[in-house]
Amino acid sequence: NEFVTLGLAPQITEVLEAQGFTKPTPIQAAAIPEILAGHDIMASAQTGTGKTAAFLLPALHRLTKESTHHARGPRILVLTPTRELAEQVSKVATELCRKIPRCKVVTVVGGVPYPVQNKMLAQPYEVLVATPGRLTDLLRSGRIDFRRMELLVLDEADRMLDMGFIDEVEAIVDQLPKERQTALFSATLTESVQRFAGPMLRSPKLVEM
Ligand code: AMP
Repeated sequence: NEFVTLGLAPQITEVLEAQGFTKPTPIQAAAIPEILAGHDIMASAQTGTGKTAAFLLPALHRLTKESTHHARGPRILVLTPTRELAEQVSKVATELCRKIPRCKVVTVVGGVPYPVQNKMLAQPYEVLVATPGRLTDLLRSGRIDFRRMELLVLDEADRMLDMGFIDEVEAIVDQLPKERQTALFSATLTESVQRFAGPMLRSPKLVEM
């Protein structure tokens, strides 16, 4: 199992093996070691290349180790441009979490009634997958404590820009701890994506496919 040699915990590689995944895709082989090493990354990867697992696997690896904080909020935040993508990322994350003791995923997207969402956020969870619009609404209510957040993933950053989410994403990122890791994925790393990403990333490693 080549995922083992990338440095992922057995709780993760065992689940991959059960799903029949034994060989990382090129984006996974390039991105996973950088994220595990704690680097920020800026990666270009199209849908279908295995990009979701490229960020989820090293993200969930963090959860195999205890947090040093006692706050209750998310340790991992994934921002996606659309509700459909958020739901898909959450589904994959929930499957990959199967053998990790504290690995609960909550999805925050438009269209879900607030009482349902608030109930989910009231229980302990580690991974928050959200669209910028709904998360912005929630931040106003002060319901999410980001003090123990470790890793921010911006998925399909180019689409977030195309859909006009720049201001929302910037306002969200402003509220996150400065001491965190950030991984940005985009189909293409255009100049506008790089300009947008600049202030959110610290000496990012470039991973281009
Ligand atoms: P994505 O690019 O994240 O949308 O993933 C595309 C598809 O590739 C999904 O159906 C995954 O289940 C599948 N996939 C991801 N990683 C691997 C892998 N290492 N080996 C085989 N299939 C994979």
